[in-house]
Amino acid sequence: MGDKVQVLYCAVCSLPPEYCEFGPDFEKCKPWLLENVPDLYPELARERAEQQLQGLTVSNEKGDSSKTQEEDVKRLPGGKIKKKEKPAVVVERVTRNKRKCVTTIKGLDMFGVKLGEASKKLGKKFASGASVVKGPTEKEQIDVQGDILLDIVDFITDTWQNIPESAIFFMEDGKKVSAG
Ligand SMILES: [Zn+2]
Repeated sequence: MGDKVQVLYCAVCSLPPEYCEFGPDFEKCKPWLLENVPDLYPELARERAEQQLQGLTVSNEKGDSSKTQEEDVKRLPGGKIKKKEKPAVVVERVTRNKRKCVTTIKGLDMFGVKLGEASKKLGKKFASGASVVKGPTEKEQIDVQGDILLDIVDFITDTWQNIPESAIFFMEDGKKVSAG
């Protein structure tokens, strides 16, 4: 009694497990060997432990990075916060129909100026046609016929004392240039 030997064969390659590494497909045997005869292949167990460790590390890193991204998204709410526009009056000389020069004035409304009244004042002061028009960005602007760039800054600061010269800009070649 006691000499009953349990003969075990690999379920994958059907060799005795100690021969698996010489068998046709040791790689495929590995999981079965680890499951059933781990003592026979201690290096496999070690290998798997290392792989698991790496796997854990990788998934940890993944977890961490996605977490960080989420936090970042929360911290920066997608740039949806509207940047508060600093009030500014932008004056631009526009030449239309080749010779006809128009001076556009944008932003007076940001200083509480009623554009209708402003356009009347401008028309009177410069003895020219002035009108409130919808600008390209759907914002209203005042168009004054003629080139009034030289006098406009003084006129604005004299007429509307709450508009400082530093808040008035000229549009030159697509760039905002301080009039002050
Ligand atoms: Zn095998």
